[in-house]
Order: sequence, then structure tokens, then C-alpha cells
Amino acid sequence: MLRWSIATVSMGGTLEAKLTAVARAGFRAVEIFENDLTFFSGKPKDVRSRCQDLGLEIIGLQPLRDFESMPEPMRARNFDRAERKFDLMEELGTRFLGMCSSVSEDSADDKHRSAADLAELADRAAQRGFRLGYEALAWGRYVKDWMQAYELVCLADRPNLGIVLDSFHICANKNPLAPLAEIPASRIGLVQLSDAPGILMDPMSLSRHHRCFPGQGDHPVAEFLDCVMKTGYRGPVSLEAFNDHFRGAPAAMIAQDGMRALQIAGETLDKGRIAQGLAPLRIGGELPEASPIGGIEFVEFTTGSSGQNAFVNLLEGLGFTRVARHRSKEVDLYRQNDLNIVVNSEQDGFAHAFGLLHGTSMCALGLRFDNPERALERANALGTPTYFGRIGPGEDLIPAVAGVENSLIYFMGAQKTGAPTNWDRDFVFDKAEAPGSLKCFDHFSNVLRRSEFLSWMTFYKSVLGLVNDPQVEVADPYGAFYSRVIRSPSSTLRIPLNIADGGSTAVSRFIDAFGGSGVQHIALETGDIFAFVEAAVARGVKFLAIPNNYYEDLSARFVDLDNDLIEQMRTYGILYDRNRSGEFFQIYTATFEKTFFFEIVERRNYELFGAANTPVRLASQVAEQERMGW
Ligand code: MG
Ligand code: MG
Repeated sequence: MLRWSIATVSMGGTLEAKLTAVARAGFRAVEIFENDLTFFSGKPKDVRSRCQDLGLEIIGLQPLRDFESMPEPMRARNFDRAERKFDLMEELGTRFLGMCSSVSEDSADDKHRSAADLAELADRAAQRGFRLGYEALAWGRYVKDWMQAYELVCLADRPNLGIVLDSFHICANKNPLAPLAEIPASRIGLVQLSDAPGILMDPMSLSRHHRCFPGQGDHPVAEFLDCVMKTGYRGPVSLEAFNDHFRGAPAAMIAQDGMRALQIAGETLDKGRIAQGLAPLRIGGELPEASPIGGIEFVEFTTGSSGQNAFVNLLEGLGFTRVARHRSKEVDLYRQNDLNIVVNSEQDGFAHAFGLLHGTSMCALGLRFDNPERALERANALGTPTYFGRIGPGEDLIPAVAGVENSLIYFMGAQKTGAPTNWDRDFVFDKAEAPGSLKCFDHFSNVLRRSEFLSWMTFYKSVLGLVNDPQVEVADPYGAFYSRVIRSPSSTLRIPLNIADGGSTAVSRFIDAFGGSGVQHIALETGDIFAFVEAAVARGVKFLAIPNNYYEDLSARFVDLDNDLIEQMRTYGILYDRNRSGEFFQIYTATFEKTFFFEIVERRNYELFGAANTPVRLASQVAEQERMGW
């Protein structure tokens, strides 16, 4: 039966905890990695009954290693070893054994001998009603590619012997994918999926430490799955990721990431199949389609236990005006054109609790979906429950889901023209208009612990239907900084996900001061950054000090750049970038309460984020931190 499965090796912890996490994440099938069994204190039949209780089918045991083309007496010993695995399979109640191509120096480069060994083992397995799968390890001694493994399977020619198609080995060795579609389904024993970053590394190290779930890396997993499904194979598809970070994380989180990654892999597969005139397969059921995100309706800040005045001063300095107050709560609405910033200073409830943990910070984001009901159904189907906050009498109930560090993402619909808005119903306005030079939210940065990076990427890609840009890596004065932008397909929502290596990096200091992952900056777009900055400085806003050398370097990098323009940028600390399509200006406010800052950008036909300026921003912030004694 076509269904999702996961190999126990993909998670950390005890076998018991892994199985529970796998079942809770919605899996109905699991592959047992033999090491997990070796370290398990109970008997294999206990694993069998635990899986039965959890509703998990054990689709296979793996791996049997270094089997084929071995000289005697190792060959005979190998058959004994295999028989013991068969006994174990009997106790576990599984019918399938996965074996991988030999890496042994003692094995012979003789495909006919290898095929004969596989055939003999398959015949022995058949007597007990078992099936075998043979997989090419990318670093196998003689069999490295799926084409070689397939040749052996065909030479052995046994009905209970199939090839294991593992996307990792196939993609790591850059094996051709299209011919996979020509394999008869009856010759396929199992399909395994994982992804990996597109870094140059020997396949074994990449495999053992850096495998990740589909959509978290750079392998053509979607194309692989599409080709494999064209064979007519309808057996289990199993996630198999060896990853140090996964093993260090809670099994429940990793199992859920795996399920979400598979759900979007299945969705991508079906979209592709429908486009090719093929029937969708709906592995794991139906997933409501992602709703386009029309825009950002508001961001909400909690002012924590202190700092409200300072934060409000900063907002007013940036040109925001308080236009309304909530009917029943200590909540103000600050506005500039269509930009809404809600300032929550309630002494109770969600925002207050968030503020106690993180200080003045962005605690919620309100998104406008074309179809908010469907967007919420999708979130729920991906294991993200709906959060309903406490509301006052007659107040609008806006459903939300938990995002990074339990901040909230509200799911709102498009505003109908002429109809009263959420704001009209819940707020009392004392100003109708709030003009200013800031036009829209440009992006939000999420600064994340490294261990959470792939989880949140999968969350955004699956739950909100976002897509990702390639990873950018730059230097921090105390380590390295990595950023990956994820965005809605129409770029209405853009979130750079930032992580760092190094305990004193700007990112690590943020995480320490903030008490976890969170939004470190909000970028706002203006049509005239120079006029904006001049006015903001006059209103008392402090901007991040940029070293003089940056501007010397700028005039060297862009020789045609006007000197007066460079001087103007130097005066305020504006940064500059340019590419083939256009120009970009950006400036950062001084950091507020050790954790948060605004960025103001002016885009002239430029769609990136000024990554070339990130090192100078990080260095300037580290200098600021050291000056302030943070
Ligand atoms: Mg494998
Ligand atoms: Mg930015």
C-alpha cells in the first residue's frame, strides 16, 4: 500500500520515544534500524506489540551489510548472520529486510558471484515468506549507483528480491533520474527519501551527518519521486535521514518535521502529476491547498513590564501616529499609511506572558489570506492546532497558530471594500489618517537557534506555503552568519531565517538577551530614504553607527557612484547595494533593549536584501553591543 513511513534512525532518543513520536506525528508505518534494537532494553516482540498499540506497521528491518561476493569462510558466516536477522524479523513481525552494497575490502568485483549470492539469500528468505531489498550505497566498494544495483537484482532474478531506491545515494552520486521511471514496479523493494545541502563533501560524510528531510536541502527530491512513481510502485515511501542535529532535537519535533516535509513532497508530486495529465496519488491523504497571502495586516508588539514609553517614542520617531485605542484592552493602534503596529500593554494574557519572557518584542503577526478558512484547515492538517485568544464582548475572534517561540500568526481574510474592518469593530479611533513616508512592511527576520532552523523552514514552507531562496553565508566578527530567505510565492511575506555559528556572534547575543528564537528586525519600505532619515533624526531616532571605512570601500567598489550621495549616506549611516536590475539603500536603527531594531529600505528595482552589507551591519552591532556593555 502506498503510504509514508520513517526510519527510526532519523530521530534521537530511545526506541520507545521514537516510536511514540512517529505515531503522534501521524505515521502509520516505520522502518526499524537495527542499532535501535540493539540498544533497546526489551525484547523484539515488545517492539512488535508497542508498534501494534501505536497503530504502526513495521515495514522493514535494515540493514544487512557487506553480504555479497565475500570469500569463504566469511560467505558462510554471512548466510548464518542473515538467518539470525530472519529470526529477528519473525519476532518483529516484519517481512522485509533491507541490505546495502558491500564496502568490504574482502569482497570481489564480480557481478555474477554477487547476483548468485543475492539469489541464494532470496531463496532462503522465500522459504520463510520474506522479501529482500538491495540498495547501492554511494560509497559502496563496487556497487555505487542504482544502475549497478538494478543489474544485480535483474541477474539474480527472484520475485522476492527488489532494488531499494534511496534518493540520497542516487542524488549524491548525481545518477540519472529519468531512467528510474522505466524500472518495472515488481523489481522495486522499497523507496527511501531524504534531502541534503548542496555542499561539496564526500558522500559518506554528507550522508552520515547532513541528510535532512525533503525540501530542507538542495537535492532534486521532487523529480526523483515523480520518476519513481511513474514505475507504478505503490509500496511504502520511507524517510531516512542521518543528521546530528536531528538526533540532538526532541524526537516529537523531528517526527513532525518529517511528516510535514512528506506532506509537501506529496503535494508537489501530485501537482506535477496533474500537470502531466496523470492521476494524483494523495499519499497520506488530502492536504488543503495553500491560500495566497494577500498582505500583512498588522504586527503586534508587547511592551513587557517596562519600556512602553521608549518603544512608543521610537515608533513616533519613525513617523507612526497613535490613531486608535482598543475598546476594552490596554492596546493601542499605531499607523502610518497602511502599516499597522499594535502596541499591547495589557497586564494579563498572551502578550503579557510573551513580554515577561522576552521583553518588548514582536509577539504576533496578522496575515491576510485570500482564503483564511482553507489556510487554517491546511495548518491543522499539518499538525498545527488553532489558537483562540481571550476576547471581550462583541470583539472579533481571529484564529491564530503558534509560530516561532509561541508567537502568534493570525489568519485574517481580505478586507471587503466599504464593510467595517476588524479595527472599526474593536477599536475607537481618534484619527482618521496617518500619513508618512513608510509605505509597507518589507521583511521580518527570524533569528533562530541552529537546531531549530530546518524545523521552522519546514513549518513556513508547509503551513504557510512559502518557498525558499538559496542560502547566504557571511562573516560575523565572532563566527559565521547564515541566512535563508523564505517568501510567499508573490513576495507579499518575506522572512530571512538567520542562524550563526559562534557563541559571541550578534545572533547568539540576540538569542541570549531575548531568551530564545524570535523576530530581531522588521524592515519597512520608504520611497525616499534620505528624506525619511532626516526627519527621523530630527525626531530623535538613533541609527546604527557605520564605520567610515565602509564608505571608503563603497567608493572603490562602485567607482561611478556620486560623491555627494556617498557623503549623504555617510552622514546618516545608510548602506548601499546594487545589482544588474537596480539599486538598494538600507539603514538600521540603534538596537532597542539589546534585542530588536528596525530596518528602513528604499528599493529601486532591487529584489534582494543587501547581503553584501550584512557583515558591516553585524560588525557594527557587535561594536554597539561592546560599547553598551551588553
Ligand atoms: Mg537507505
Ligand atoms: Mg533585513
